[in-house]
Amino acid sequence: MSLREQLCEYGRRAVELGLVIGTSGNLSVRQGDLVAVTPSGVALDRLTPETCPVVDVAGHLVEGELQPSSETPMHLAVYEATDAQAVVHTHSVFGTVVATTMTELPPVHYNALLLGGAVKVAPYATYGTPELAANVRAALEGRRAALMANHGGVTIGATLEEAFEATRLLEWLCEVYVRALGVGRPAVLTAEQLDAVVERALNPPVFPRRTP
Ligand SMILES: [Zn+2]
Repeated sequence: MSLREQLCEYGRRAVELGLVIGTSGNLSVRQGDLVAVTPSGVALDRLTPETCPVVDVAGHLVEGELQPSSETPMHLAVYEATDAQAVVHTHSVFGTVVATTMTELPPVHYNALLLGGAVKVAPYATYGTPELAANVRAALEGRRAALMANHGGVTIGATLEEAFEATRLLEWLCEVYVRALGVGRPAVLTAEQLDAVVERALNPPVFPRRTP
């Protein structure tokens, strides 16, 4: 699948799963110096490969008739600062709830480790600005996900599929946390408990084969 075809595929899935509505949210995927990004003003389930612009990492339009997403500076800042090959940004409901009320999403489930542990909320700045890009870049340091205050979430991956799955996981973690708050006071995993999970993952049990 070409980079632009991947954008269409995951754009459609993002709408299907309710992670974005209307023309909100944007995705990008990188290959070398080039980045295919979703266009500005087109709903993510209405994309065609030809409508997806290609820019270079310096932000010049290389291909495509439509303008790249207004959040492209943020995507490019993330590529500059990390080893990411794909970036997914959505306004998913529970992610936005957490981003509107908290300064970080505490790790209440060990799967948070897949995103780097507690997820930081980048301070608010107007969408599309270099200031927002810088805030997101800082919040992502050492992590696969960040939330943007009063805005939404952003995740990265080695592939678009990986970045997309990280977005689904981020939304799931935020939903668990928000729903848990409605029931009681969520217990946050300690550093020791999280270290033990890493230790366990590095040393999975080996089941001996039964000899006849
Ligand atoms: Zn946005």
